[in-house]
Order: sequence, then structure tokens, then C-alpha cells
Amino acid sequence: MTRARPQTSSAHIDLTDLLSPRMPHRQPATAPTAAGIVRALLPWFATHARELPWRRTLDPYAIWISEIMLQQTQVKTVIPYWERWLRALPDVQSLAAAPEERVLKLWEGLGYYTRARNLQKAAREVVEQHGGRFPREPAAILALPGIGRYTAGAIASIAFNQPTPILDGNVIRVLTRLFALAGDPKEKQLNARLWRLAEALVGAAAETPHSALRILHSAGPCSALNQALMELGATVCTPRGPTCLVCPLAAGCLAHRSGRAEDFPQAKARAAATERRFVVVVLERDGKFLVRQRPQQVVNAGLWEFPNEELTDPTAEACATAAKWLGLPPRAFTPLKPVKHSITRYRITLDVLRAKAGRKRLAVETSATWADATAVEQLAFTSAHRRIARLLV
Ligand code: SF4
Repeated sequence: MTRARPQTSSAHIDLTDLLSPRMPHRQPATAPTAAGIVRALLPWFATHARELPWRRTLDPYAIWISEIMLQQTQVKTVIPYWERWLRALPDVQSLAAAPEERVLKLWEGLGYYTRARNLQKAAREVVEQHGGRFPREPAAILALPGIGRYTAGAIASIAFNQPTPILDGNVIRVLTRLFALAGDPKEKQLNARLWRLAEALVGAAAETPHSALRILHSAGPCSALNQALMELGATVCTPRGPTCLVCPLAAGCLAHRSGRAEDFPQAKARAAATERRFVVVVLERDGKFLVRQRPQQVVNAGLWEFPNEELTDPTAEACATAAKWLGLPPRAFTPLKPVKHSITRYRITLDVLRAKAGRKRLAVETSATWADATAVEQLAFTSAHRRIARLLV
């Protein structure tokens, strides 16, 4: 005799319970249920998941590295970085013991270098406090440096199949559309509600009997459900032009059914970008280039760059500014192609000048060093200055 499942099981939660109190149960007959979402998503994921290298492993270290790299960075960019990193630093012990310079070099080009530094800090904690074994408990994972609620949930669910929720940009998009949730997802109340929805879904995945799933991804239902939500957001429920016609959740999706998929999520408009301009000087003497390491406590600390100064006056002329700064005549400088890049809300232009340094010692040399082309190649440069280094070849 089979026993009836308790009514409080999260697989049977009607997710409209978690909708805004301002619109309670407005569409109770049509809103999808947790069990329904799980039953639709898991088979879809089993047949539609992209082949990604970190999906071939259950090693929490490898999954953790992929999750940190994927923050702010596209999958196709991350793949070669992840593969190179795993070859160079295959486990938590090798990362803990690596020189910081090597860690930064492996990260070079991914940006947001605090992520790389935190990876190493966390690896050292795992070695010192967990005997070198990556912790399984979500709270212990969350306590590691650089790991927030999303990353802890991702590692615990993907590596250990634990029913921990995840909420990233892709999942927010899917959930706000599925339930037509109005408001800014960063706003406290809605954000808490989205976490509860994500929790109910992964809880339902954990409780769904395997026999009820036509095809189950080998990673386990919690892992598969969380990855399926992200995968759906990345490949089907995209920010522009979601392909609802092929979506496994289309039948119950409130935004799609009302023809308003692109109206969600309703994030606040971003602050306008700020333009910034720098003059960068590539000084050359005896076949070597003057480079300096960025100090601690600043953005991109520890990375290398060519000497540079910010131009606070938008009308300032780059050669004249460099001449005054370095004590060289303006005719000493040859402009190279400007380099443009963006960091957070800043749109940055680097006016790049090249000059021979001559024999006279310059003030700028005090905090810098001369490096030949091979050394420049081996040092970890900020992304923009690596592009300048390539202009020299
Ligand atoms: Fe997104 Fe469309 Fe699927 Fe709804 S039906 S979850 S809007 S892709």
C-alpha cells in the first residue's frame, strides 16, 4: 500500500502562495506548481543541456572555480580559462600553495581580480580548517571568502545534490516571467520572495520520486533542477526575444500567456555611464619597457601596468600632459591606437603614447621597473594594459 504524501511537501506547494500579497491568488488556477515545473524542467535539461566541461565532474573544487569565473563573464570566454586553471592548479592544495603572481596570471583577462584573490584565500581556509576537503555543508561553504548565497547554493546543489536554492540573473528572469512578478528584483521584499520560490523548486526536485521523472540527469535532481533553471534563462528565456515556443514551461508561464514576457524582470534602469580618460606612456630604454605594479588597496591591486595618469580635464591634450608629468619634450611622444574598455559603470579611454626614455633618470622610475618583452609577457597585466602590450609586438 502506498502512503499518501503529506500535503505540506514542497513538491505540492502552489507557488502562488509565494506571490505578492498585493495580488494574492489572482490566477490560482493557472499559475504553475512546483511539482509541475520540476516535471517539465528535468527531462528538458536531460536532453537540452549544453556540453560544458565543468558539467562532466562532481568535484566541488572544479565546480567552485567555474562558478566564480562565470560571474560577470560569458561561458565561451570562461571555458579556456577554466581548462587552463584546472591543468595548472588541479586541486585546492595546489591553489592554496601557489604564488599569488601565478594565480593572477592565470586569471589575467577575466577582470575583477578580487575574485582570484578570494579563491586563494578560501583555498587556504579549506586546507587549514577543513583538512583540505571542500566542505559539504552549505553554511560552511558560505563562510568561505568570496562565496555568497548564490555560489554556496550552486556548489552545494551541483556538487553534492543538496536542496539549496540559487538565484542569479538567469533564474530571476525565468521566475519573474513564470509568475509575472512586478517590481525590481533587487528590492528586498521581491528578492526574498524569489529566494523562497527558488527554495520551493529545489525542495520539490528533492522530493519528486525518481519514478515520476521520465529522464533524470545523472547529477541528481537538485543539481539538475538548479542547472536547468539557469540553462533555461541562458538559452531559451533570454533577455530579448525569448523562444517561448520551445520552452518546456510555456503552458504555465503567466508572462508568456499574457504576451508580456519581455516586460519582466522590471529592474531599475542603470545609472548612466561615466566617461574617464587616462594618458598611458610606454617608455622604452635599451629594449626594455617601464612597468609598475598596482599597489594594494586599489582596484586590480598587484597587477602590472604601464605608467599612467588620469586626465581630469576633458580638453587636456595627451602629449602635453605627459610632457609636463614626465619632464620630456612633447615631440618625444608618438601616439599609438587608443584603447577603450569598460569597468562597472565607467567607460574608459586610454590615450597611449610611446617614447624613448633617454639616459636621464625620470621621477616615474622610482616606483617602477624595466622589463623586456619576455618579462612583460610573463607578468600579470590588467586587461586594458595587456592590450597595450600587444600593440608593441
Ligand atoms: Fe521564459 Fe517564455 Fe518560457 Fe515563460 S514561456 S519561462 S517567458 S521562455
